[in-house]
Amino acid sequence: MATESDLSCHGLVRRFGAHTAVNNISLDVPAGTFFSILGPSGCGKTTLLRLLAGFDKPDEGDIYIRGQRMNDVPPNRRPVNMVFQHLALFPTMTVGDNIGYGLKRRKVPVAERRKLTASVLEQVGLPGLENRNPMELSGGQRQRVALARCLVLKPTLLLLDEPLGALDLKLREQMKVELKHLQKQFGTTFVYITHDQSEAMVMSDQVAVMKNGRFDQVAPPEELYREPATPFVAGFVGDNNRLVGEVVSVMDNLAEIRLDDGERVRGRVASAGLQQGARAELYIRPESLVFVNDSHRDGYSVMRANVRTTLFDGANSRVEAESSGQPIYARLPQDGSAPTLTADSVINLAWDPMFARVFGVDRS
Ligand code: ATP
Repeated sequence: MATESDLSCHGLVRRFGAHTAVNNISLDVPAGTFFSILGPSGCGKTTLLRLLAGFDKPDEGDIYIRGQRMNDVPPNRRPVNMVFQHLALFPTMTVGDNIGYGLKRRKVPVAERRKLTASVLEQVGLPGLENRNPMELSGGQRQRVALARCLVLKPTLLLLDEPLGALDLKLREQMKVELKHLQKQFGTTFVYITHDQSEAMVMSDQVAVMKNGRFDQVAPPEELYREPATPFVAGFVGDNNRLVGEVVSVMDNLAEIRLDDGERVRGRVASAGLQQGARAELYIRPESLVFVNDSHRDGYSVMRANVRTTLFDGANSRVEAESSGQPIYARLPQDGSAPTLTADSVINLAWDPMFARVFGVDRS
């Protein structure tokens, strides 16, 4: 089956005994996309990546790269390279030999190899480092050598297995931006797996959120954040408040929910078939909450809450409060406009119901 995508998978399944690690995954990755697979430990990310690389075979389903079926193609014959967390650079070889290794195996003549190596080193911001030993380089530089070693082979797909996991926080922040720039510069399709939602959000064009071997949602980062399709995505991507109660009414795609102490809150319906009387969960982002003086504001949902603590956080204070025995936190701007709050202050928190998402609580 031909397809325009660089990568296309249909109904992939991989079982280990009774456990289904990859459970009916389909995906389409257009050329030049930074595609991330985001999910908690054990959800099946590495298993999926190994299927794409050819290190493992699916029990069901098909993998196509640029329209060519890959199921029976061995790893070294796939137009795919992989960057691992521990980079796997050869410590006894120079940077240049590390980068030229794959070219040499492809029998590219020495002069051409040197030229390509110099050029790719320049592109990753390490010009002239051919003769250095990789162990003499900083963590970030080693990372770029590992990328250069793959990119010089011009793969259709570059698979990256948590490559920033071993770096310290500051370097990780820096490399996120660099990786994104390098991906755009080379135009190679990246499939990147991570359990770190901020990595996926900063770098990706598309993110697949994975849970228990399945994709809950595949969307650009902004859409995942603003329109999470499932409670799991709402809770996993970015900070969110979750309030649980019973549906009082559903009208015009807005649901009203009664929390256990009688407080009523409103939000946009996000799951089909939400009915009066059902248990429901409402998600509202901290930055969507505003402090109001009255218990009513036109068009807003307003909720009373008791302050538990405020934590200074630079530009904002983090206000941790409680309503109906449920925690809720907001960000209070430090621009002089905010009230002074102490523990046990009673506040009114308001939000535009269009920014809140309401899902039925799954009782299964
Ligand atoms: P992490 O982020 O911790 O690496 P992951 O999302 O990459 O997790 P996988 O390594 O793909 O998860 O594992 C998914 C599930 O499949 C886990 O329950 C794991 O124990 C199981 N699994 C993976 N490989 C095998 C194997 N070779 N044999 C048996 N079970 C396996």
